[in-house]
Amino acid sequence: DAFVPAADRYASTPYRRVGRSGLRLPPISLGLWQNFGDDRDPQTMRAIVRRAFDLGVTHFDLANNYGPPPGSAETHLGRILEQDFRHHRDELVISSKAGYLMWPGPYGDGGSRKYLLNSLDQSLDRLGLDHVDIFYHHREDPDTPLEETMGALDHAVRSGKALYAGISNYSPQKTREAAAILADLGTPLLIHQPSYSMFNRHIENGLLETATDLGIGLAVFSPLQQGLLTNKYMSGVPQGSRASGTGGSLTSRQVHDHTYQARRHGLNGIAHERGQSLAQLALAWALRHPTVATTLVGASSVRQLEQNIETIEHLDFAAEELARLDEFAVD
Ligand code: NDP
Repeated sequence: DAFVPAADRYASTPYRRVGRSGLRLPPISLGLWQNFGDDRDPQTMRAIVRRAFDLGVTHFDLANNYGPPPGSAETHLGRILEQDFRHHRDELVISSKAGYLMWPGPYGDGGSRKYLLNSLDQSLDRLGLDHVDIFYHHREDPDTPLEETMGALDHAVRSGKALYAGISNYSPQKTREAAAILADLGTPLLIHQPSYSMFNRHIENGLLETATDLGIGLAVFSPLQQGLLTNKYMSGVPQGSRASGTGGSLTSRQVHDHTYQARRHGLNGIAHERGQSLAQLALAWALRHPTVATTLVGASSVRQLEQNIETIEHLDFAAEELARLDEFAVD
């Protein structure tokens, strides 16, 4: 069945500028960390990606190691791109990363030029693309000189295999150093990817200000705290949910933590007053800073994705609402 994208796909999304760059991203981007491995139904993946594009989502966030097994998320997206998006490549921003363990031996992990550039070639191969739009170093590597890692990002851009350079999980100080090195090389740092949610506010202690100051944008990950900031776990751990699985990134212990349960109920009450779901409140809240260019959101169904994208209908907050949220939006 041939995919004919919706003609009105660009009508209602308020795309946001990434820092001081010329690139704009949708407020809600689709992250493929989970739900796009070999353990998932290919038809569901394809339906999610198609629906996302129809609703104005132009940005898809991946990394070399997303799966399981590592690499399979890129392979699955590559197949979907080939099947459905051959005439729409230039309407898409595809991101990938390297930095965590990907293959055995001394060259499959960290921040060396050897690892980053070989991994980028592997990612392009799996994706079936000649370039990604954003290539990130996934985490700080204290054992590699920052000049070498940033040199690899600069080379990726100069060789045409990436259009922009990004970093993820870097401290404010290392972000400043990375941005300065890249500026010297002539490849500006576009974007930083940190975690951020109503239960994880670390970027408010420096990184947000650093990014604003440097003119780079933030793409914030796990804004729903992996599902905790949705109505999914209001009464236990449903079958098939992330907390019910063996991945270990979200545990049922976290779901049953009384402090967070109480905070979730408090936040849910405010969401209802705003005429939103808890997930929509959590996404709108993360987007209240202009420096946050986009939220990277996972979805295991088309319905979740649709609900999350509806967030754009109510993004604004009164000062008084934000103050009330601070009572429950605590790390
Ligand atoms: P989220 O916090 O958005 O959690 C997504 C999960 O929440 C879904 O898988 C689903 O859980 C649940 N969910 C989503 N929408 C709804 C809804 N409307 N109602 C109920 N439940 C919902 O983010 P992720 O942790 O998935 O991370 C998002 C992306 O961020 C990743 O895909 C990746 O691209 C990026 N990332 C980057 C990292 C980095 O180091 N740079 C690290 C981690 C993530 P369920 O599957 O149980 O249905």
